[in-house]
Amino acid sequence: MANDPTPLHVNVLSDFLGAGKTTLLNHVPYQDKSVSRDTVLRSSLLGEYVAIGWFGYAVFGVLLWSLFVLQNPLSLVVVGSGLWIAFRVSGVYPGQFWAFFISGLWLLAVGALATAGIKNLPAWMSTGAQSPPVWTGLMACICVLDYLDWQLAARSGRSAEENRKVIRLHLLIAIAGLVLAWSIALPFGSLLYQWGNPPISGKFQKEELGLVGNIGFRFCEAFFTFWFFVIGANIGSFLNVVIWRMPNGKSIVYQKSSCPVCGSNILGRDNIPILGWLGLGGRCRSCNVEISARYPIVEAIVGCVFLVLYFVELLTGGINLPNRSVNQYAGVLWIILYTKWDLVGLYIFHCFLFCTLLTWMLMTKDGNRIPSRLILFSFAIAILAPIAFPNLCLVPLWKPLPAWLSGWVGIALHGVIGSIAGTISGFVAGRFSRLVFKSVDSPERILALCTAIAGCVLGWQAAIAISAIFMMLALLTALSLSPGKVATKSSWILMGVLFVAVLLHHLTWRLQWSVFFS
Ligand SMILES: [Zn+2]
Repeated sequence: MANDPTPLHVNVLSDFLGAGKTTLLNHVPYQDKSVSRDTVLRSSLLGEYVAIGWFGYAVFGVLLWSLFVLQNPLSLVVVGSGLWIAFRVSGVYPGQFWAFFISGLWLLAVGALATAGIKNLPAWMSTGAQSPPVWTGLMACICVLDYLDWQLAARSGRSAEENRKVIRLHLLIAIAGLVLAWSIALPFGSLLYQWGNPPISGKFQKEELGLVGNIGFRFCEAFFTFWFFVIGANIGSFLNVVIWRMPNGKSIVYQKSSCPVCGSNILGRDNIPILGWLGLGGRCRSCNVEISARYPIVEAIVGCVFLVLYFVELLTGGINLPNRSVNQYAGVLWIILYTKWDLVGLYIFHCFLFCTLLTWMLMTKDGNRIPSRLILFSFAIAILAPIAFPNLCLVPLWKPLPAWLSGWVGIALHGVIGSIAGTISGFVAGRFSRLVFKSVDSPERILALCTAIAGCVLGWQAAIAISAIFMMLALLTALSLSPGKVATKSSWILMGVLFVAVLLHHLTWRLQWSVFFS
């Protein structure tokens, strides 16, 4: 029997909907259609307070937006959704499909308004704390809560197997719904916008797509977004194989994917990221042994990292990247279709960094040594890729840069010095976390290795910033977790914290650079 990675015990889906678990929510008499306080939101004291605050906020928003109905009739959308939010958080009729459905419709309406924009109003209305984008966020929360209430009420009559089927079906409907919402609701949103904000002069000279053209273009955008997630999830699936096979000296390329227990080949359709696992109900098709939930979770994490960078780094024209002017024309059309290769290159390079970090961390988590040829391979890419494509090297080693450092020597030094700074600062961060967590196992080696590759890719300044963010987050984590939990899982928690620190740094990189280094 091969070494299957130990399960994470974060089987979120089956924990959430699995049968036989007694939770606070299980005993709620949902069949009783009368007022029930025990919704997901109101099942705890904290939730009660949140609900009260939410209610007040919604009522205040309704009053505020009512004042502007004559100025712009579209304000009615916000007023209506505010009334609905107030109604939902009051906890009446939980666990019913129609409530979830209506919340979804309101979400579409407010979301379309937020994306299209609203005019003829004071600036603090259209961008402030009561603006349509904020209301979209609130409405999305209501939608999720209504979904959870509905599912918790419905699951009692279903077996675990049926529950999995339902989750799979809902996941597919959600994907299709997102695509449809984006490609059909948004064009109607902009029609709505033109109706609410008629052009003042007779000629409307801006080049506008017609409704059909707009729908087609949005479909295209939704498809690309979905596609980036799929690429990420597939790479996550490959990383799962690398994480498990490589430390065991098995071939990554020349072996078909097979069940680690019974050795039978895995069918193509069962190998589809996330959906394959859900389709099998988390069990092998031949021997019925349980397949760790870690596989779909890793796939989802990589897919989400690809998607977050796609939205923040690609579609914005590189708004998070330091020392580089943001592309003036952004979005799917200007970045992906009229491909901006320098930005796409940076995107791939940074996705490579996150994949490497995840792979190393999970190998360490499994108790395996990271193969030295994998470490060499990763550092070789991190140092050589910018020499081949100088655009990948964003920040200078120093300002002003001496003339002899302007060519490839400077770029190579950027990688080497970044690695050294990462090693040192990561080691310091590891010592610090050992003090904070008082753990028995030593996290310094893996932390230093991870910050070293981050420094190699992003530069020495980033390595130091990441270590600083890591130490702050580690301190917060230590303060918020119970001591027993910290002692047993410390190195695993610390690796997770480091991954979050690198992601946080990456999303705010430009800001930090402008504050500290320029
Ligand atoms: Zn099997």
